[in-house]
Amino acid sequence: MVSTIKHLYTKLYEYVGSETIRLSLAAYPEGVRILSVNDLKNWINQTMQKPNAWGLIPATFVVDSENYLRLVERHSEHVACAGSKPVLSAGEIFFLPNNKSFEVAEITNQSTGYCPEPESWTQVEKALEKIPLLHPRNFTTEFIFRKCPGCSQLNIVKNDLFSCAVCNTNLPNIWNCDC
Ligand SMILES: [Zn+2]
Repeated sequence: MVSTIKHLYTKLYEYVGSETIRLSLAAYPEGVRILSVNDLKNWINQTMQKPNAWGLIPATFVVDSENYLRLVERHSEHVACAGSKPVLSAGEIFFLPNNKSFEVAEITNQSTGYCPEPESWTQVEKALEKIPLLHPRNFTTEFIFRKCPGCSQLNIVKNDLFSCAVCNTNLPNIWNCDC
């Protein structure tokens, strides 16, 4: 018998970004938990979000340690959204309004504060299905983050080229952004 249970990737990501940024955001409110479509509508109305040129409403998201989606306005820091706590995933999300609800049109794991792996998608999917929101089958753009063992620069790996953009040192195959 073939198992249809999707393996859940449950790594909890600690904030790995700049301490200066984290401290400067201490007074910012954490992201609003989205437990239902109604919560999403309320958040969009209360924060006066407007669709962009493509008709999409962008936001910054994290999936908190209890597997709930949390939102703050786009260009806000993920660490503020998460209330400085560890997360299961983080990135950017774009909502497309449809008749009575919204669907997720685009979603990425772009967060240099947490550097979540593409595999964290399973946690994002679980959080979206609890609301529930229609969504793509995976991140629509995936980011691979690695820290350079030579110069500590945070790199975004492009075209499977695992070498540091600053000093050319080889980057490891395994996630290492917390070292
Ligand atoms: Zn380097």
